[in-house]
Amino acid sequence: MELRKTLALAGLLVVAQLQAGTPAPTTEAGKGKPTMSDHVEKSDDEWKKALTPDQYQVLRKKGTERAFTGEYWNNHEKGTYTCAGCGLELFVSDTKFDSGTGWPSFTAPALQDSVATKEDKGWFTTRTEVLCRRCSGHIGHVFPDGPAPTGLRYCINSVCLKFEKAK
Ligand code: FE
Repeated sequence: MELRKTLALAGLLVVAQLQAGTPAPTTEAGKGKPTMSDHVEKSDDEWKKALTPDQYQVLRKKGTERAFTGEYWNNHEKGTYTCAGCGLELFVSDTKFDSGTGWPSFTAPALQDSVATKEDKGWFTTRTEVLCRRCSGHIGHVFPDGPAPTGLRYCINSVCLKFEKAK
C-alpha cells in the first residue's frame, strides 16, 4: 500500500510540474504544419482504415509496443517526431535521451500544448498517460524520473511517431 501511495504522489508531482509550466523547447519546424487547434475526430472504423494494425493497437487501444522493437528507441538523428495518427509535431530530437528502456524517451514535448496527460489507474500502479493533444491518440506515459532540465521521462511508443529528419 505504501508503494501505491508513493507512486500516486509521484504521479501528482508530474501533473503539478506540467501545470506549473515546465519549460518546453519550442521549434520553428512546426510552423505551417497541423496545430492542436484543429482537433481530429474519427470513428473507430475510420481509425482502423487510416492506421496500420500496430499503430491502431497503441494509438486507439492504449497498447504498448515491445521494448527494443520499435523504429526509434535508438535513433540519434536530428529532427522532429510527429504523430502517426494526425501529423501534429510531438517531440524534437533535442530533448531525446537514452533511457535504456527500449522506448524513445524525451524530457519534454515539442511544445507545451503538443500533448495532454491523464491519470491511468492500473491494478497496482497509477501512471500518467500521454496523449496527442490533436487526435487524442495514446502515445505512452510520463514518469518523474527523467534527467535535467525537467526531471521528466516521456516514454513513447515508436509506432505512434513519424520521424522527419532535419534538413
Ligand atoms: Fe495525433
